[in-house]
Amino acid sequence: MDFRLNEEHEALRASVRDFAREVVAPVIAEHYEQHTFPYEIIRQMGKMGLFGLPFGEEHGGMGGDYFALCLALEELARVDSSVAITLEAAVSLGAMPIYRFGTDEQKARWLPKLLSGEALAGFGLTEPGFGSDAGGTETRAVLDESTNEWVINGAKAFITNSGTDITALVTVAAVTGIRSDGSKELSTIIVPSGTPGFTVAPGYSKVGWTASDTHELAFDDCRVPAENLLGERGRGFAQFLRILDEGRIAIAALAVGLAQGCVDESVKYAKQRHAFGQPIGNYQAIQFKIADMEMKAHTARLAYYDAAARLLAGAPFKRQAAIAKLHASTIAVDNAREATQIHGGYGFMNEYPVARFWRDSKILEIGEGTSEVQRMIIARDLGM
Ligand SMILES: Cc1cc2nc3c(=O)[nH]c(=O)nc-3n(C[C@H](O)[C@H](O)[C@H](O)COP(=O)(O)OP(=O)(O)OC[C@H]3O[C@@H](n4cnc5c(N)ncnc54)[C@H](O)[C@@H]3O)c2cc1C
Repeated sequence: MDFRLNEEHEALRASVRDFAREVVAPVIAEHYEQHTFPYEIIRQMGKMGLFGLPFGEEHGGMGGDYFALCLALEELARVDSSVAITLEAAVSLGAMPIYRFGTDEQKARWLPKLLSGEALAGFGLTEPGFGSDAGGTETRAVLDESTNEWVINGAKAFITNSGTDITALVTVAAVTGIRSDGSKELSTIIVPSGTPGFTVAPGYSKVGWTASDTHELAFDDCRVPAENLLGERGRGFAQFLRILDEGRIAIAALAVGLAQGCVDESVKYAKQRHAFGQPIGNYQAIQFKIADMEMKAHTARLAYYDAAARLLAGAPFKRQAAIAKLHASTIAVDNAREATQIHGGYGFMNEYPVARFWRDSKILEIGEGTSEVQRMIIARDLGM
């Protein structure tokens, strides 16, 4: 057992940490204020190779691994979660389905621009009426044999990275038939941006992650070539379960970053803020809060390291990924609440990073499977 990072992982962590502090921190509050997407930051992240981290060099990737992606997400989220979720969704939800399940042609067409960060892809699973219960998907795709095209009708809700100026495509989970036992046959289809019949609604007004891109999508007799089917027909359910299992480790890393950012900001503030004649950090009540926050960030980090190590070793990791996501998102919310408390009235002001952390933390208990869904996964894996 060795918990030390290797040299490459250490170097990556250090360079992303510097980037987050020097490039992201000075400008991100303004993007939150204006609800604007930070294109310039994303462009620089592309140049650093962050979008290609866990992919092979043959497709333009960096030849790293999924753990490298998690480390980068943790360091970004330590400063800002909108930038981190943009990377997480672009890599783990956007490019990964094509990398894992795409044909050689699909990989050659899409991966180079997705892995360089020049383009982004969205993952269209959730619908206005179905989120946790993704098997309820109602969006339909019918193969028109006369033109050899899929004709897609339906809607998707809350899709990250689906409406930026550089979004190239969305992968859409759709019902492509009914099986003999009456269950739905689900498949995944690639829909390029700008395809007639595919419309992107204006961005949502969100509580947090306000510098990230999230839209509702509509498909109205939207036609794409038959070869846009991703992987095998009828494998949609298995595909998105695999993508979400991995993605939970990435969201756990992002949550640990936010939780650690709360510690960083609280230590700094507690040393400089005075009350009753001395820094508030001299009071044990404040020290104990910060000690608990550090303990929570540390244990959640170990949980995601463990899940990532299992994934890399090819061992079963479903339960560990759910545990990591459940624990890390819970403690991220805890730490954001305590960091705000330590900042007093200033913690309620948007000019302080902890106000952003507080607003950004709640979605971690909801996105990529709610905390209830994580508990269902853990219980099922225990044979219940
Ligand atoms: C900012 C943002 C970005 C997102 N990005 C994407 C994206 O890129 N792609 C994508 O496909 N989706 C995305 N989502 C959707 C997200 O994954 C869903 O919101 C999430 O899975 C929950 O689904 P829901 O909102 O439909 O809630 P519901 O499934 O309606 O759940 C409502 C409540 O009921 C609970 N519940 C449901 N079923 C059970 C049960 N059996 N037992 C106990 N409790 C239960 C839930 O835990 C929750 O508390 C995003 C969401 C947001 C807010």
